[in-house]
Amino acid sequence: MAFLEKFTLTPRYIPKPSRRRSGLPINRVRFLVAHDTGNPGSTARGNVSFYIDTCNTVPKAKTASAHIFVDDKEIIECVPALTGKPEKAWHVLYKVPKDNELYGVNANDAAIGVEYCFGGKIDADKAYEKYVWVLARLIHEFKLDPAKDVIGHFFLDPQRKTDPATGLLRSRRTYDKLLKDVVEEYFECLGDKPVVPNELSNETGTLQTAVRLNVRSKPNTKSTIVQTLAAGATVDYKGIVKNGEKVNNNPVWYMDANGNFLWSGGLVLEETIGTPKPVTKTTSPAETRSAAEINVLRPDDKCIDFIKMKEGLRLDAYKDVAGVWTIGYGTIRYSDNRVVKAHDTITLDQAETLLKGQVLRKSLEVNAVLNPVVVRQNQYNALVSFAYNVGIGALKKSTLLRLIKVDQEDPKIKDAFMMWNKAHVDGMLVEVEGLKIRRQEEAEMYFS
Ligand SMILES: [Zn+2]
Repeated sequence: MAFLEKFTLTPRYIPKPSRRRSGLPINRVRFLVAHDTGNPGSTARGNVSFYIDTCNTVPKAKTASAHIFVDDKEIIECVPALTGKPEKAWHVLYKVPKDNELYGVNANDAAIGVEYCFGGKIDADKAYEKYVWVLARLIHEFKLDPAKDVIGHFFLDPQRKTDPATGLLRSRRTYDKLLKDVVEEYFECLGDKPVVPNELSNETGTLQTAVRLNVRSKPNTKSTIVQTLAAGATVDYKGIVKNGEKVNNNPVWYMDANGNFLWSGGLVLEETIGTPKPVTKTTSPAETRSAAEINVLRPDDKCIDFIKMKEGLRLDAYKDVAGVWTIGYGTIRYSDNRVVKAHDTITLDQAETLLKGQVLRKSLEVNAVLNPVVVRQNQYNALVSFAYNVGIGALKKSTLLRLIKVDQEDPKIKDAFMMWNKAHVDGMLVEVEGLKIRRQEEAEMYFS
């Protein structure tokens, strides 16, 4: 069956044989590894040029490569996968066990590595569209399972890697959303699931944004963000789509005068404009909880996964940057309150249980501290991650909490997250790059 060729691939091969391209064939492609470059602002062209320039000079111990680089402008293949007979590339450490557990092979011998370029001047939406498409295209080419055969690098090498989750988060997307979008793209490009045309009615009127709201090219969250409106902006609408993408179970999108779309959950209708709004802004039924109901908010899988990624996983005790003995996913005390000490070891199961217990306990404290303010799930997730990392006492006395109590959409909240980027190292309070990035990502999660 024909697959929709939405984009073109540019072959720009690394010379072979070289330290970045052996030229050895992959006999059967078994899965795809989703990466990001880990280097914000670096482009597909820039990365491939670097690989080509250093293909014979890179130290043997660092001979990394990948097949495909994707940014907002192009999809470049530097080791053949789709534009030639697939060859091996070195994009996952041979010694990690997960690829063998899942597929009985090493990723380098049987998987195509695809790198997502993000950050800097790269248009996140356009790069994401191409990334999702090329993954779907590869799935089709090698007859893989769209629901199972895309594997994040962090999943294979959890102790060293967080890609592509970190790169995607910088583009305001989660790894789970990527997996979902690839499946959808695959069926859409196959024409298997005819795309239901969005039915547009011709009603017109005026709306006001209740929150900071993205204006998109189509009535779905996969499409390009054309513009972001501040809370309280007025929008004249020329039509309504009632079968757009369901966000919080609400499929209604409004079309503006330029033919772009705004999700109805972020809008207030004309009749209510002018009536004073409560401090707590609501954007969807899920968010119109009463103060009493807020206590039912719990960290979701996204939150747990984010904390896992950020804390990293070690099954033997180690000293963290501040010199505190740590084990598992950043655990410093066991459930019976004993502190972690040198030479302790635990199992993966124990690490999971410890993490979940601690996140849950922390989340209940966050609920208590927030009360009676109502926040959205993503905002809540970000605050739980924050409290897990810096402690509930710190959250309580923070500018962050003070701002949230006044207006949950205040842009100053981002800076308030960023204030917490320091740790005690050898008795001195110093800025830590990892904390800076974590705060950035928590702030992005908060506003997503
Ligand atoms: Zn990677």
